Amino acid sequence: QQSKRTASRCQFFSRELTEQAREQVYLTTELRRALDSGGLAVHYQPQVDLRSGEWLGYEALVRWHHPKDGWISPGRFIPAAERAGMIHHVGEQVLEQAGRQFRQWRDEGVAPEWLAVNIAAPQMETPGWGEQLLAFLNRFGLAPEDLELEITERLLVERRTEVATELAYLRRHGVRVAVDDFGTGYSSLNYLTELPVDRIKIDRAFIADLTEDPRKVAVVEAIVTLGQRLGIAVLAEGVETEAQRQVLLDVGCRQGQGFLFARPAPA
Ligand code: C2E
Ligand code: MG
Ligand code: MG
Ligand code: MG
Repeated sequence: QQSKRTASRCQFFSRELTEQAREQVYLTTELRRALDSGGLAVHYQPQVDLRSGEWLGYEALVRWHHPKDGWISPGRFIPAAERAGMIHHVGEQVLEQAGRQFRQWRDEGVAPEWLAVNIAAPQMETPGWGEQLLAFLNRFGLAPEDLELEITERLLVERRTEVATELAYLRRHGVRVAVDDFGTGYSSLNYLTELPVDRIKIDRAFIADLTEDPRKVAVVEAIVTLGQRLGIAVLAEGVETEAQRQVLLDVGCRQGQGFLFARPAPA
């Protein structure tokens, strides 16, 4: 009886594993095809001044439309690409497209102040990555100040020693750094005193029920104060309603991003 139960449980786990492995293989095979055939697109979402509504910057967000499966979200394929060591290629194509687009906006006189790009862990660990990035900007006639790197809090905490050198180098040259998904499960704030950071992006989880939960308001207010004291700009992610915008303004948060202002969209 006992061994039978153990056996069936093993079978259950191995079936799950097989499905995960199949998903991984499928996604990476298809992603390789998309990378080779220009199948990845970039959409942009404005980052705004909460008071005036002025568009300050654009965040570049990768989009993949699969010929059979339709849209595959980055939340699903980015982790698979990271595991397969393919994230460099994704990152390169996003930078290439977004850089070219930003250049065009600049030429047309409609570019906002900055272009924000999401960076995954393994991208930053390639030796000489910072130098390559500066050369890339130069090729498009963009200044380091035009680019903001969005790096998740998880990466900043877990890979601090690996990313610190490259980040410091880039920041010395003027590239900006934003902490993405701030406040999601990491108690260490020490990295904020040691790593160069220009902007904190408060995770959507704090904004979603801001108007119903006074404790969320307290946390957001504390993050805004922290930013003010450290000289770091604070931006709220996932602002969807006018009521949320009002609470954010009440606690002194000046910048936001979300469906209330604009959904991510093609150039
Ligand atoms: P993120 O960088 O935190 O991006 C914000 C996500 O929230 C985006 O999802 C955006 O579409 C969504 N969003 C924006 N405003 C709202 C709102 O008001 N309400 C709600 N519910 N959602 C909102 P998306 O595009 O699916 O991207 C998910 C994550 O995938 C990103 O989170 C980022 O971590 C990653 N990602 C996206 N593009 C890239 C990329 O080019 N490179 C890398 N390494 N990661 C990327
Ligand atoms: Mg981001
Ligand atoms: Mg985020
Ligand atoms: Mg996020």
